[in-house]
Amino acid sequence: METIAERLKSALESLNEASQKANRAPNSVQLLAVSKTKPVSDIVLAYEAGQRLFGENYVQEGVDKVKALQQLSDIEWHFIGPIQSNKTKLVAEHFDWVHSVDRRKIAKRLSEQRHDSCALKVLIQVNINEEPSKSGVLPNEIDELAEQISELPNLQLRGLMAIPASQQSSHELLDTFAKMQHLWLDLQSKYQNIDTLSMGMSADIEPAVLKGSTMVRVGTAIFGARN
Ligand SMILES: *Cc1c(COP(=O)(O)O)cnc(C)c1O
Repeated sequence: METIAERLKSALESLNEASQKANRAPNSVQLLAVSKTKPVSDIVLAYEAGQRLFGENYVQEGVDKVKALQQLSDIEWHFIGPIQSNKTKLVAEHFDWVHSVDRRKIAKRLSEQRHDSCALKVLIQVNINEEPSKSGVLPNEIDELAEQISELPNLQLRGLMAIPASQQSSHELLDTFAKMQHLWLDLQSKYQNIDTLSMGMSADIEPAVLKGSTMVRVGTAIFGARN
């Protein structure tokens, strides 16, 4: 069985290959290691192998890990799961980034509850395939939420995130990622500091990188299957 260090190395190699195929500079895409459901000891193994960006989906589990690993102070913690309004305080207090902001109420609470000299970096989650029961704003709602976020003092808007519909053909997936790239470039033309397009997971790193992803969120390929 491969170790976490070996799988991390392979994931970085896939990312580099995808960047080359897309004619993009090496290191133009960051790797976010998604450690949800995995023990703290797995995060430490990835850290020892050089990984610094970690993503968590569940608030309490994530906060417990952030606290347990406080001494590894150069870890950058990303919250990537759905947020209920009664959990915003924990997220605002313990994470560096949030990828899943999709309504003003949540953004406003995160800003009010952020008591750190450093703003909380946020991405707007987009329901790019307009699926009925999926989190995220619809593409035509991005502008309104971006404007609301830009007025909140303790948040810094950095870009967009998407989880495409499952079961798409490779052609449909490319089309979906291309739509995201288009929306992201449009946002970039309107706001400063828009440098992050969070898309691509273990199974679709290559098409995401081809369409301009700047951060892929990879769980299974690094930590193995989740139970
Ligand atoms: C679980 C999860 C991932 C990682 O998915 P893998 O297929 O395990 O790489 C990425 N993004 C989000 C939002 C997730 O919930």
